[in-house]
Amino acid sequence: MATNRTFTMIKPDAFEAGNSGAILKMIEEAGFKIVAMKATQLTSELAGKFYAVHAERPFYADLCAYMSSGPIIAAILEKDNAVEDFRKLIGATNPADAAEGTIRKIFAKSIEANAVHGSDSDENAAIEGAFYFSEFERVG
Ligand code: ATP
Ligand code: MG
Repeated sequence: MATNRTFTMIKPDAFEAGNSGAILKMIEEAGFKIVAMKATQLTSELAGKFYAVHAERPFYADLCAYMSSGPIIAAILEKDNAVEDFRKLIGATNPADAAEGTIRKIFAKSIEANAVHGSDSDENAAIEGAFYFSEFERVG
């Protein structure tokens, strides 16, 4: 069943550059409500767990090192059609391919240090939200 929630992280490059506030402003102005939010830092092990789906990809080790290199902000967001609309707001994985006006086009430094994460499905949005916020843990 489709839900109206997605999950995001402001990644270490954007946090370090002081762009968290500007990114959250864009998120709110696009109509997303912040349901849960915290600043935290992943260990390399936790980053590996979060991105386990990419374990076989050549960039996996670099991605885990990068995602644990500094603080991030994790948040659950709510809006109709949240997953799809948020992917549109953030733009393509590689900022070079991202549409004008998207968060990655404006703030991302590279295909790896690409400013924000956005869930790719309702199922993953629920799993990823529960990864950070125990009150959103699903039973079963
Ligand atoms: P995210 O899951 O972080 O929202 P995405 O869904 O757009 O990003 P994925 O294919 O899920 O892209 O890749 C996860 C992350 O791995 C990317 O956001 C990026 O940080 C990194 N990544 C993806 N492809 C590459 C690559 N070719 N080289 C280096 N890093 C990459
Ligand atoms: Mg992804």
